[in-house]
Amino acid sequence: MRCFFCKGGLEKGTTTHVVTLEKCIIIVKNVPCTRCTQCGESFFDDEVAIQLEEIVKSFSSSMMEITVVNYAGRAA
Ligand SMILES: [Zn+2]
Repeated sequence: MRCFFCKGGLEKGTTTHVVTLEKCIIIVKNVPCTRCTQCGESFFDDEVAIQLEEIVKSFSSSMMEITVVNYAGRAA
């Protein structure tokens, strides 16, 4: 598998995913991803993308302005 953008090499890692909603910001830490060693673009597996959607959905009604979630803890 090669980078979709620059065809660079990819490596496994984790990233911090930030979602900005109308009323709040959701920060998901330790999200597993595949990152391009050349341009730094990161990609999520389908499974991870679905999980992220679920996390955002469950916290989107939160009254807190900023929510920090640990992906590793949520996905277990
Ligand atoms: Zn790239």
